[in-house]
Amino acid sequence: MNEDIYDIAVVGAGMAGASIAAELAQLGGGAIVMLEAEDRPGYHTTGRSAAFWEECYGGPEIVPLTLPSGTWLREHGFLTPRGALYIGRAEDSAAMDAFVARFANSGVSIERLDRASIERHLPGLRPEWCMALWEEACADIDVAGVHQHYLAAARQGGVEQRNRARVSQAERVSDLWHITTEHGDTLRARILVNAAGAWADNVARMAGAAALGIQPLRRTVVQLRTDPLPPVDLPLVLDISGQFYFKPESGRLWLSPHDEEPSPPCDAAPEELAVAQAIDRFEHVVDWRVLGVDRKWAGLRSFAPDRAPVYGFDPGTPGFFWFAGQGGFGIQTAPAAARLGAQLLLGAERDELTQAIDAALYDPARFVLDSR
Ligand SMILES: Cc1cc2nc3c(=O)[nH]c(=O)nc-3n(C[C@H](O)[C@H](O)[C@H](O)COP(=O)(O)OP(=O)(O)OC[C@H]3O[C@@H](n4cnc5c(N)ncnc54)[C@H](O)[C@@H]3O)c2cc1C
Repeated sequence: MNEDIYDIAVVGAGMAGASIAAELAQLGGGAIVMLEAEDRPGYHTTGRSAAFWEECYGGPEIVPLTLPSGTWLREHGFLTPRGALYIGRAEDSAAMDAFVARFANSGVSIERLDRASIERHLPGLRPEWCMALWEEACADIDVAGVHQHYLAAARQGGVEQRNRARVSQAERVSDLWHITTEHGDTLRARILVNAAGAWADNVARMAGAAALGIQPLRRTVVQLRTDPLPPVDLPLVLDISGQFYFKPESGRLWLSPHDEEPSPPCDAAPEELAVAQAIDRFEHVVDWRVLGVDRKWAGLRSFAPDRAPVYGFDPGTPGFFWFAGQGGFGIQTAPAAARLGAQLLLGAERDELTQAIDAALYDPARFVLDSR
C-alpha cells in the first residue's frame, strides 16, 4: 500500500495547530500535514474567544508567554488598545492586595485607581465598587486575523491542510505513526503533534500515550443591548474576585459570568443559568438597563491540572508532541508559544521571542516527575 509519509502530522487546526504548523514550516520542519476534524478550522474554541490580550490573564506563569506575544501581535497590527480595569468592593481589599503581590516581579504594569478615576472609565458604577486596578496595556485582539495569518503562513510554507479529517486511529510502528481518519484515509508521519484543544487527552489515549488530565471547562459569553450604550472607550472590566468580565463590541456589550463548568469535549452550548447569572452580576455592577440578549455562545477552555500549558515531547511515547492546555490564554500567547513549540520539537535555537521563557514550566514531563 502506498501512503503519504510526512515528517510531522499536526492534529487540530485551531489557533494552536495553525500557529505551530506555520512556525514548524518556517523553521524547516520538512513535509507537514495538518488534520482538522471539522469543515473549517477555528470552529471550536478559537472561534469563540472574548478576543482580549491582558497581561495578567492566566497568572504569573503565563506572563512570560503573553508579553513577547504582545510585542509580536502589536507589530503585526493585531492589537487595538483597550485597557483593563479590575474592580472590587471593600470586602475585596485583600484580594486586590494579593493580586498586586502575585504579579510584583512579573514585568506587568498595574496601577491602583481611586473611585473618581474608576468612574471616568466606567460611568454608572454602583457605589459599593470602590477600588480598582488599571492595566493600560490591555488590548483587543483580531483573533480571526491572527488565525488566518497562521493558516496562510502554514500554506505558504508548504503545509498540507486537510479539513473533515478527524484522526480516529494513531499507532506507532517502527518509528512511524500510522494515522487513520474517520473517513478511512491513511497516512504516516514521524512525529505527531497533539494540538486538539478539548480533545487533547482523547488524542493521547488514541495514540497510546498517558492522558495528562487536560480538562475542558465551559465558558459562556452573552452579547447584550444596553441603555446607555457602552462607551466605545470602555475598558475590559473584570471582577477582582473572578465573577464576571465585560467589554464593548460594536455598540454592544460582551459579558461573561466567568463560568468554569467541567465538560466532556464537545460542540459547547451556553446554559440558560449561566446567561441569567451573567446578567444578574452585571446589574449589580452598573445602573445600566439590559434591553436584551442579541446572542450568546460558549466554548471550552482546556486546562492541565496545574493550569499551565503543555508543550513538549511526551516522556513515555516517542514521537508524540504535546501542544495543548492553552486554557483561557491560547490566543494572546499564540505567537511566543508556537515559536517555542516549534523550536522544542526541532531542537532549534531560541530567538528574541522565546529566549526569556523557561520551557520546563510547560514540559509534559513535569506530571511524570510529580507523580513519582
Ligand atoms: C469564551 C471564551 C473566551 C476566551 N477568551 C480568550 C481571550 O480573550 N484571549 C485568549 O488569549 N484566549 C481566550 N480564550 C481561550 C482561547 O480561545 C483558547 O485557548 C484557544 O482558542 C485554544 O486553541 P486550540 O487550537 O487549542 O483549540 P480549538 O480552537 O478548539 O482547536 C482544536 C481543534 O482540534 C480539532 N480536533 C480535535 N480532535 C481532533 C481529531 N481527533 N482529529 C482532527 N482534529 C481534531 C478540533 O476540531 C478543533 O478545531 C477564550 C476561550 C473561550 C471559550
